[in-house]
Amino acid sequence: MEQRPKIGVLAVQGNFREHAAMLRRLGAEPVEVRKPSQLEGLDGLIVPGGESTTFMRLMRLYGLDEALGRFAGPVLGTCAGMIVLDRAHLGLVDLEVDRNAYGRQVASFEADLDLVSNKLLQANGGAGPLRGVFIRAPRVREAGPGVEVLAELDGEPVLLRQGRFIVASFHPELTDDTRVHELFLDLVREETGVRT
Ligand code: GLN
Repeated sequence: MEQRPKIGVLAVQGNFREHAAMLRRLGAEPVEVRKPSQLEGLDGLIVPGGESTTFMRLMRLYGLDEALGRFAGPVLGTCAGMIVLDRAHLGLVDLEVDRNAYGRQVASFEADLDLVSNKLLQANGGAGPLRGVFIRAPRVREAGPGVEVLAELDGEPVLLRQGRFIVASFHPELTDDTRVHELFLDLVREETGVRT
């Protein structure tokens, strides 16, 4: 891998610009992905938040659904991106997820998350709670045995990892806390080392 990892950000819809800005800030090179050929040569991929039904429709239209299934690198899915990767959609992460499941009254909110894994604390040498921005967020109903919980809200998983996949039900790209993206870039470095 080059010194600056090349990270694709799925840019068919949703807040891909904020992810790109975060990646740039951390020294990675963001690449906007709108068609399958743009996945070639990437070291990792982010599927951002947005609207998962629109996402799925546009991804099918451009053949990105199948291309994502073939993509072999690390993937970070946030909010709608988590839904897109779950059992009921692309089936890449062993999760059952309920859309918009935090209720109508408090559909969007911010909260401090409990870090279950200390990997996040190690990233960036950062201490302190992770602030989660939830916007009509999905709720994890069930996680398969291969899924590791990294952070929780009120005892429910909101940040998880399954092998080369990291998924968050919140929006790490909307805060100044870079730890989730750093954790992802660490994974990218590890995986690229293994593949080469
Ligand atoms: N509610 C959206 C969905 O179901 C997800 C919201 C988001 O990504 N901020 O797809």
